[in-house]
Amino acid sequence: MATQKVGGEVDSLCTRCKLSLAHTILAMVGPKIARVRCNTCGGEHAFRGKAGVTDRPTKAATAKAARAGTPRAEKVVISFDDQLAGKDIASAPKYSPKDTYRVDQVLHHPTFGVGLVTAVRGDKVDLTFRSDTKTLVHGRGGEPVDRPAFNPPSNKRSGPADKPMADPPPDLDMDVEAASESSPPSGD
Ligand SMILES: [Zn+2]
Repeated sequence: MATQKVGGEVDSLCTRCKLSLAHTILAMVGPKIARVRCNTCGGEHAFRGKAGVTDRPTKAATAKAARAGTPRAEKVVISFDDQLAGKDIASAPKYSPKDTYRVDQVLHHPTFGVGLVTAVRGDKVDLTFRSDTKTLVHGRGGEPVDRPAFNPPSNKRSGPADKPMADPPPDLDMDVEAASESSPPSGD
């Protein structure tokens, strides 16, 4: 491999001729050719080496640059209050598994409060409440309902948990007897 130097010749991909042609080396950076002039068209350009071998940034770097230059779309989060805006909450019916609901309907649930129907699947309705979403049954009119009509809360954050029962007060009589047995009165 011949030593390349400024003024020497090298094969490079010419940006104008679109061909790998003889170029005159115009500048070098260390051992690498930086700039060349096409012997065919006289155009000066950065050294490209042979076709297929380029110093272009990798795809990952290109994608990263593209991401950095593209503003991300704002994530729009519709709050519960916004979802209920415009809904007639005052006249919302009380939830009953016997009633039939439709999407976008507002209702009052005795446990979860005001809820918005977001989906209807057969005899089930998905409801969004302020703190949770629930799947409830509906359209059970005429049929006896012998079980709770709502799913139990998945996380028990509301209300204090059952407090462990306080230990019963020690039986004083027992304590006295035990004490008298384990430590007899000192008589000497
Ligand atoms: Zn050229």
